Amino acid sequence: MVNTHDPELLRQLTAILAAGGIEDASLEAKWIAEDTETPAQAEEIAKRRAKHEPLQYLLGAWEFYGLKFAVGGGVLIPRADTETLVDAVLSRVKSIKQPRIADLCTGSACIALALAAHLPAAEITGIELNSPAMAYAQKNRTLHHAENVQLLQADVLDPQTAAAFSGLDVIVSNPPYLTAEDMAHLQEEVRYEPAAALDGGEDGLHFYREITKIWRGALKNGGLLAFEIGCTQAEAVTAILTGNGFTGIETVKDLCGNDRAVLGYLKSVT
Ligand code: GLN
Repeated sequence: MVNTHDPELLRQLTAILAAGGIEDASLEAKWIAEDTETPAQAEEIAKRRAKHEPLQYLLGAWEFYGLKFAVGGGVLIPRADTETLVDAVLSRVKSIKQPRIADLCTGSACIALALAAHLPAAEITGIELNSPAMAYAQKNRTLHHAENVQLLQADVLDPQTAAAFSGLDVIVSNPPYLTAEDMAHLQEEVRYEPAAALDGGEDGLHFYREITKIWRGALKNGGLLAFEIGCTQAEAVTAILTGNGFTGIETVKDLCGNDRAVLGYLKSVT
């Protein structure tokens, strides 16, 4: 950490950031100073940040659900919005002694590892297709000593991946869900993030349709399917779940009051 009380350094970093149009320039200047070893390094990071590289990538770590995660190019940055999904799942699995959980499109493994931190008896598998994201998932698993989390590099849209699982209590996923229109108008920072983690096809719903259809057979009767969604997708995702034999479907809002998760239970066929 450089001297974060050095007003001259903070002023200089703030000026660099403000000139690049960074909104919270003085706050970010403080964070950069806190996370760097020398004034030269702080200045170098501020200059890259001024070109709208995500602060999270430049610092190399970000907090999610009270835990620190390694992040960088090639992996989606954990969003505070996604804590809604973790809360929703945790509150619904409390009564299961040793829940078996799969986290599809795990990315940095932030969902899998946040769940693991609160469910030490759970058996959790995080599945990710892309190697750069997988490398961060592995790193984070090691960082958190999460022995109850397995990581698997595989395509969740391949039915053979799902066929290796059965009797799961929970499937959780924050899949790519942006529409083609959203992808064409990404915020500058988000353009640095992997398109594979964002692009949900023309209408943003491709992964919901495929995952629900392909993975329902991996759930036990009464098992929980929990998706993060884009704030306009609740109705469409609810319809996908209903059409695939799910019941008790609920939409959960995030702290900003936007629809953020859709959850449903596979109908028991007893
Ligand atoms: N919430 C992310 C964004 O708007 C999208 C994440 C996703 O597609 N799963 O940048």
